[in-house]
Amino acid sequence: MVHRLGPMQKLPAKMRRFPENQTVDYCIVGVGSAGGVLVQRLARAGFRVVALEAGPFWDTEKDWVSDEKGSHELYWNDLRITGGTHPLALGANNSGKGVGGGSVHWAAFTPRFHPSDFRVYSEDAVGIDWPLSYWDLKPYYELLEREIPVAGPAWFPWGDPHGHPYGPHPLGGVGDVLVLGCTKLGLRSVAGGPVAILSASHGDRPHCIYRGFCLQGCKVGAKASTLITHVPNAITHGAEIRAHAMASRISLRQDGRVDGVVYLDSDGNEHFQRARAVIVSGYAIETPRLLLNSACAGHQHGLANSSGTLGKYLMAQAGNVVAGRFEELIRLYKAPPAHALSEEFYETDPRRDFARGFAVQTVGPLPVAFAKQMVAAMGAWGWGLRRVMMDYNHWATLGVLGEILPWEDNRVELANEKDQYGLPVAKVTFNLHDNDKKLIEFGKNKVMEVMRAAGAEEVVQESRYAHLVGAARMGDDPASSVVDKFGRTHDIANLIICDGSVMPTQGSANPGLTIQALAARAADYLISQGEGIFNGDKRDLTTPPIRRDLSPPSTWGHGVPRLR
Ligand SMILES: Cc1cc2nc3c(=O)[nH]c(=O)nc-3n(C[C@H](O)[C@H](O)[C@H](O)COP(=O)(O)OP(=O)(O)OC[C@H]3O[C@@H](n4cnc5c(N)ncnc54)[C@H](O)[C@@H]3O)c2cc1C
Ligand code: SF4
Repeated sequence: MVHRLGPMQKLPAKMRRFPENQTVDYCIVGVGSAGGVLVQRLARAGFRVVALEAGPFWDTEKDWVSDEKGSHELYWNDLRITGGTHPLALGANNSGKGVGGGSVHWAAFTPRFHPSDFRVYSEDAVGIDWPLSYWDLKPYYELLEREIPVAGPAWFPWGDPHGHPYGPHPLGGVGDVLVLGCTKLGLRSVAGGPVAILSASHGDRPHCIYRGFCLQGCKVGAKASTLITHVPNAITHGAEIRAHAMASRISLRQDGRVDGVVYLDSDGNEHFQRARAVIVSGYAIETPRLLLNSACAGHQHGLANSSGTLGKYLMAQAGNVVAGRFEELIRLYKAPPAHALSEEFYETDPRRDFARGFAVQTVGPLPVAFAKQMVAAMGAWGWGLRRVMMDYNHWATLGVLGEILPWEDNRVELANEKDQYGLPVAKVTFNLHDNDKKLIEFGKNKVMEVMRAAGAEEVVQESRYAHLVGAARMGDDPASSVVDKFGRTHDIANLIICDGSVMPTQGSANPGLTIQALAARAADYLISQGEGIFNGDKRDLTTPPIRRDLSPPSTWGHGVPRLR
């Protein structure tokens, strides 16, 4: 008998397959954090949906291993070109490839954005305001926190203070360090979440066993990914997830509406999926790349790019890692990397010489990642690196998560180089500006202070960046944005973008929960518009009713609910 307990293997029926020549209602490109939520909602609402995913359809039992090296296939390792004054490290440890996308390898920290994040221009005269407010998204935060679900403290004191529906996790050694260091400095911190990891079993998912392989997919199934939270329910409701299907171009009809997606299978054969509407959910790099690669007559600079902003205003968060060595054992691999944080420095403070702020969070690199960090942070090599690694269990690591502002010169363009499919790859340019540099300098020094206050004998830091968003931003003005507040492109009525690329600014909260909340909201909008998306050109921007009844049912009513 084969031992197969993954949620995918327990599905009662086979996945529906649409014949190649059949026109579906929605073709979604990319089944990641946003695409996974969208395909589930739209299928459950009765639409015919095909989702194309460039990577594999993971069988969690067979494909995943609790091993750093063995999990590198989870990442988008295809060629990308990087440049600018502060080039971003792309490839492994950046974005996901395969059903579930980045939600497969995320650490699952799930703080909400603050109300101020949606109004940074009004409040701080930097960046740009969102075309929606925190209060528009709040019901979706609450919905997704129950749906995926989120474990965390009973009281989260920052932004819009709130509690979490499921109880927190116990503290690991790194969490102890964060809480102790913050407390000694008089800073508030929270522990045990917010994180989309089960602190008690929930439906058909077991609770966390604290082995620390969250970034390797979590073979156990305790960590949320759309692969296990949403995709099974999408399939149950008749969606087809077509894996190893790399979208190469979105096709535009003469009447100015899209009519499907050209894609390549793993043998390089070209196919065409006809659809009445197309949603692009490919991540902040691949989404603009696909739209730029879809340039055609009348859209020479890429689809949905009449504003010229497609690819621009790409953002990454500052993600400096501060490592501290302690006399006592820390064992940073034990417990999920994401389990304690402080948002004391999140908001703009007029006493500082920069706008916006940062969060302080636990991170838990396993030995290979830790060794790389020590090479960068200390220049450790040879015997020196070996010596540091022998002390691995005595080190703790804390992260800065800092808000870098949206700048026009930080962008995704097409490079001359081509990938294995023969498609021009993305060239990603990233520069730090004055405000960003000041924020990073202050943030890393503050986190080093926290580490020392907790008793670290030696403290070093590595500069790095995390979480790319932006590059197809939303806005009310078609002259300065790509999509409207529900993700519909200003230029093409039946072309929608829904993923992290639509974010106008990024706050200093990890983006995944917000991306999924935006996707659930976009789905409600598309459902409420019905045929209007497929046929009409008139924009109706009425806020849709929230469809709580569309949550995957198996995610409700289990576990240890904390607040009603
Ligand atoms: C190591 C790591 C840890 C992280 N931890 C956290 C965390 O703790 N909390 C948090 O909030 N965020 C975290 N993130 C970030 C988070 O994973 C991403 O922000 C999020 O997954 C982005 O969602 P998305 O929908 O925009 O894209 P993705 O989730 O990346 O999904 C895009 C999907 O589209 C597919 N695709 C792309 N192009 C094509 C194409 N042409 N044809 C077909 N398919 C295509 C991709 O294969 C992928 O599956 C982490 C990221 C990393 C790298
Ligand atoms: S620590 Fe918990 S969530 Fe992370 S991989 Fe292990 S079981 Fe999964």
